[in-house]
Amino acid sequence: MQVTKLENNKEDVHMRVAAYCRVSTDKDAQAESLENQMEAFRYRLALHKNWDLVKIYADEGLSGTSVKNRARFQEMLDDCRAGRVDYIITKSISRFARNTLDCIRYVRKLQAMGVQLYFEKEGIDTGDASSEMLMTVMASFAQEESRSISENTKWGIRKRFEAGHEVKVRLYGFRHDEKEAYQIVPEEAEIVREVFRRYVHGESRADILKDLIRRGVKPPAGDCWKPLQLDRMLQNEKYVGDSVLQKTYTESHLTHRQIRNHGQVPMYRVVGAHAAIVDRHIFEQAQKISDMKKICSGNSTYPYGDMLICPLCGKPLTHGSLSNFSYMGRRIQNGGWGCYGDGGCRKYLLIQNFLDAAVISSYNEKFDEEAEQVDFYWLDDSVEGIRLGEDKVTICWKAGGRNRVKLRVSDERFLPSAFADYYNGFLGRIIRGEQKNNCKGLMGLKGANVNDISQKRMRDKHEDNKSPGAKRGQEGADCGVLPGQHQTGGTGRQS
Ligand SMILES: [Zn+2]
Repeated sequence: MQVTKLENNKEDVHMRVAAYCRVSTDKDAQAESLENQMEAFRYRLALHKNWDLVKIYADEGLSGTSVKNRARFQEMLDDCRAGRVDYIITKSISRFARNTLDCIRYVRKLQAMGVQLYFEKEGIDTGDASSEMLMTVMASFAQEESRSISENTKWGIRKRFEAGHEVKVRLYGFRHDEKEAYQIVPEEAEIVREVFRRYVHGESRADILKDLIRRGVKPPAGDCWKPLQLDRMLQNEKYVGDSVLQKTYTESHLTHRQIRNHGQVPMYRVVGAHAAIVDRHIFEQAQKISDMKKICSGNSTYPYGDMLICPLCGKPLTHGSLSNFSYMGRRIQNGGWGCYGDGGCRKYLLIQNFLDAAVISSYNEKFDEEAEQVDFYWLDDSVEGIRLGEDKVTICWKAGGRNRVKLRVSDERFLPSAFADYYNGFLGRIIRGEQKNNCKGLMGLKGANVNDISQKRMRDKHEDNKSPGAKRGQEGADCGVLPGQHQTGGTGRQS
């Protein structure tokens, strides 16, 4: 939703303004006292030459009472009805009404009389387009509220709504002005932009973090940057100018404990709620990258995402590290893409370097630009799809056209089907415990298999400890070596 704020000419037209204040008895600090609220309103009124004060309406000493018992509120409604008021300013939603449902009801009623409202704390002007959006959000809360019966729940939801704004939380890159609106802090914003830029260009969170620490960049909090701070930064929708309401909510009116909202109550996203630090496209790319790097089904899918499909069975390929696999005496760099996800056929495994080389050379040819490595940020922008074959790759471009490239494998044994065959044998040896491997990220091994292996390894370790001499002889057995291939530089390997 894109909201354009329409500049109105409030300053030119004289407006008859009323203010409404209320103090509830229970726990109002001095700053919230009736006199202070009234003082604040007088100050505001004095600032606007074209505002003519109608009256300050003030109800005192009433908490959670119905409108019936709020004499001044009633009087204000009467004056509005009589056409004496154009604009009402009030401290906050909770001062104005008992709950959001009430609030919406009165706002609608007043708007029908041609009266707009301004809620100081929330920064909502009901005459603004963007506020209309916030009112819609409020209406959703109200709907939720009307379903609940108990007064306690109502109170809880209102508190949740207030908590949902999260206006009081200090966020790196922003500060709050007096109205608690987000203002950009330029030096910090520059760091935020840098972090996003580097992340979408393929740098890992760990590398970015290390560099920030090395340069002595001041962290959002504490003495030293922590991984979690970077994670939160890369996920925070506030950097793109949005606000998610009700990220947390209050458990109950008794505990007032703030709980992270995992769907227990509705969440609302307000797009364009304040100034943005990061471009929306980059932000969205960062979210996609982050999703791809989540190793949920045993393998990550960065940077190709779901572009790669097994030509033999049609299942999406996943990325695996192929850790400790040798390739002509050297480790296979950057892992591979194989049909080893859920229900995969395990008959196709393409080494990433060969795929990357094909995609990069096609990209450079197509756009006459030098890309050195495959990064999601340009892959996402320029590639429509990639079709894989046994020895060919076809790249379809978003700009139109396609490239068909031969996979330049150094050895026929690395053609995807042949390689998958060999790899399956290797996996089998690991599962049977005949071969050791650091299974982390190894494709095709997950869940129960890994547990079996680690149990077997525990037993081995136990036995190794009993006969230390046997251990040395096993070193190097971690390496998978292709059939008929002599490993160079390997030491202590049993042949
Ligand atoms: Zn397959």
